[in-house]
Amino acid sequence: MAETIFSKIIRGEIPCHKLYEDDQVLAFLDINPLSPGHTLVIPKQAVARVDELTDDSAAAIGRVLPRLCRAVMKAVGCEDYNILQNNGAPAHQAVFHVHFHIIPKPGPDEGLGIGWPAQQLDNDAAKDVAERIRSHL
Ligand code: 5GP
Repeated sequence: MAETIFSKIIRGEIPCHKLYEDDQVLAFLDINPLSPGHTLVIPKQAVARVDELTDDSAAAIGRVLPRLCRAVMKAVGCEDYNILQNNGAPAHQAVFHVHFHIIPKPGPDEGLGIGWPAQQLDNDAAKDVAERIRSHL
């Protein structure tokens, strides 16, 4: 697996503002926050995309994510937040080691801004894609 800056952070070779660590997960502050408290939650398993995670690694993140969200929001005095998880450069991934952003949304001009070009769901297309997705599960 390709080495990224997050592998160095996991090994303690690059400093970070560490928030949480267990044998499978590390959480620390993002170096370029979109709002105060912007946190990154990463698996210690060094893979680029969420679909490459083992069930065990994914479960370890899922176990701690709500607790981290509660702690971040209490600390910054904010109720609203986004969780963002990018996979692939066209999807805005810059560091190719899985990471979940916890981004507090204190107000309209802080936190994550989202483009959401929603369209009407076509019934026939939906049936087709749903069938194909189910066949791959
Ligand atoms: P992505 O666009 O890949 O989802 O986001 C990568 C995130 O990693 C960015 O928000 C960026 O600020 C953060 N980041 C990149 N390098 C470092 C670093 O060395 N330390 C920390 N704490 N965050 C980093």
